Amino acid sequence: MTNHYAKMASQWLQAGLHVCAPALCHSCDNLLDYDEIWLCNACRESFQPPIDPKCSRCNARVGPHLDTNDGCLLCKKDHFYFEKVVSLGFYQGQFKDAILRIKHLQGEQLARTLGALLGAHFSGTQGFQPDFITCIPVHWWKRLIKGHNQTESIALGVADELKKPFVNSVLRKVRHTAEQSGLLPTERRKNLRNAFAPASKSLIQGKQILLVDDVLTTGTTANQVAKVLMSAGAKKVVVAVLARSFGR
Ligand SMILES: [Zn+2]
Ligand SMILES: [Zn+2]
Repeated sequence: MTNHYAKMASQWLQAGLHVCAPALCHSCDNLLDYDEIWLCNACRESFQPPIDPKCSRCNARVGPHLDTNDGCLLCKKDHFYFEKVVSLGFYQGQFKDAILRIKHLQGEQLARTLGALLGAHFSGTQGFQPDFITCIPVHWWKRLIKGHNQTESIALGVADELKKPFVNSVLRKVRHTAEQSGLLPTERRKNLRNAFAPASKSLIQGKQILLVDDVLTTGTTANQVAKVLMSAGAKKVVVAVLARSFGR
C-alpha cells in the first residue's frame, strides 16, 4: 500500500473511531475534533520548533548573535563523526511529557506522529538528502522485553514525511549495555565501546544517512553509531532527534 493510501485508510479508521468511541489526543487526552488526527491542534502547535537560537552543530540552546559554525561552548572540543544534529524542540515541559509517553507500549502512534513533525521540520530547514533513514539500534533482548522500539517508530514517521526508505538492519547492537544516563562521559564511551557492528557494509558504503533518536543529551550514543557507519564507508551522517536535552 502506498503512503497516500495508508494515510487515507488511517484517516477513515480515525473517522470510524469517532463514531464508535470518542478519539482522544495522544499527548494531552483531550477530545479530538473531527478534523484532528492523533494530536489536538493545541498540542500540534506547542510542538512547533522554538525560535530560540541553537548551535548549528549540536543544536543546544545558545545566546543570541553567536557564530556557531564551528560549534558552541558545549561542543567545540568534541569530535563528531556525524555532521550535525537537528532537533524539533528542547526536552522540557509538555514536549518532554509527550516523549516520556512514547516509551510506553501504547505510545507507538504518538512516536510516529512526532516523527512526522520532526521530518517536516527537517525537510523545511535542511538541504541534506538522505539515501535512507535509520535509528539507534537496540539489543534484541531489550526489544523483546519492551515490546516495541520507540526510536524505530519515530524514524518511521520521519521516513514517511521525507518519502525516503527506513532501513533498520544497518547496524546490530552486539551486546547489551548499561543505561547511559547516570554515567560519567568517560564511562559512557567505555560502556558503548564495540557495542555496535555493521550488519551489511554494502548497504552503508557511499550512502548519506539520517540517524534518528528520541533525545540527545551528550551525543555519545549517536556519535558511536555514526563512528561505526563512517568506518563502514558512509558518505555522511546527520542526526535528527525529537529533543535536545539541557544536559551534556
Ligand atoms: Zn493535545
Ligand atoms: Zn554546539
